[in-house]
Amino acid sequence: MICYNINVKISTLSHAPSPLGEGDGSPLTGTRHGSSSDILSPLPSGEGFRLIFGGRMGHFLPTMVLEIVSYGHPALRAKGRKISEVNDEILQLVEDMLETMEAASGVGLAAQQVGIPMQVCVVDITGVKDRPSEMWIDGKAVDHEDFMPLILINPKITLSGRERSGNEGCLSFPGLSGDVSRHEKVKVHALDEEGEVYDFEASGLLARAIQHEFDHLQGVLYIDRMGQAERKRLAGDLEELLARSQG
Ligand SMILES: [Zn+2]
Repeated sequence: MICYNINVKISTLSHAPSPLGEGDGSPLTGTRHGSSSDILSPLPSGEGFRLIFGGRMGHFLPTMVLEIVSYGHPALRAKGRKISEVNDEILQLVEDMLETMEAASGVGLAAQQVGIPMQVCVVDITGVKDRPSEMWIDGKAVDHEDFMPLILINPKITLSGRERSGNEGCLSFPGLSGDVSRHEKVKVHALDEEGEVYDFEASGLLARAIQHEFDHLQGVLYIDRMGQAERKRLAGDLEELLARSQG
């Protein structure tokens, strides 16, 4: 069954994304208003509803804020299974992931981060102004905010442009951030929540966020891409995080 998810949200976004809160977060965490403690506090559950049209009948799909797993959880190192059909189960997962990303004030979330290694991630950089992004569809520039949140199912990416260093955080590494080199531009081929193929190109923060999330789907973490100095700087914090998540 093809479902038309129009992402009508009853619980509205009460916090606009703040300037790439790289301070505590990165393009990928803590970029929205709310302190980084949002990420650390217990997550509320059963946050809202999104309107989903399943076939001809519309219905409200209850959504849940899922637990975000931290560094050390085995799901973060698992390559995601390919999604063979965008069915109700996948739609529910996508909706819950959107709710979870929003509740954690993140700009991206991969299924691995909620403990489910599958090829699906979500990205929403709405309102981030201080780290520009560009998006093109069929070679034409579009307003990327018109396409948020992005739902990327079984994505494939092609990298281009030179590599640039930029600060990133990750919801699975609460409180940490570090510099990571990423390609400037990315070409994306993915399925959307209706199971339809779509293609676009992105640069700037959006390209960075997509590369970070795409890595998650392969079991690759941003610390793997950090230079030696950054890894060294974070070594103590990473050990602590590991001990916490394994204890
Ligand atoms: Zn991440």
